[in-house]
Amino acid sequence: MAEPDTHMPGKPCPICSQLKDEEYAFQKFGREENNTSLPIATNLLTKVHDFHPLSNRKFQLHQCPQCASCFLYRTDYEYLVNGSEDEEFLTRLTTEQTEVYLNHILLNNPLS
Ligand SMILES: [Zn+2]
Repeated sequence: MAEPDTHMPGKPCPICSQLKDEEYAFQKFGREENNTSLPIATNLLTKVHDFHPLSNRKFQLHQCPQCASCFLYRTDYEYLVNGSEDEEFLTRLTTEQTEVYLNHILLNNPLS
């Protein structure tokens, strides 16, 4: 783990500094005691674009309203007889990755 950089100009972002580069949560119906959820700060991000609006598997671009960092929010859903499983992924994007996704949105290209 890297040490906190005390030489960084300005304060760390109050919203997304609470988020790791990769966040993961898992929910299983009927086994709620083992469920995890994404950090509260996830709810403060703004949804910028929905790549799969008609799918029950979400694939969305989210942005921090404070510092404009972009995140990819994905869910996976598995129907099982003994209880469905839901997974959530939140990934911090680099500037280059953000540009790739923004270009897709601008060109209205569906991601394959
Ligand atoms: Zn931020």
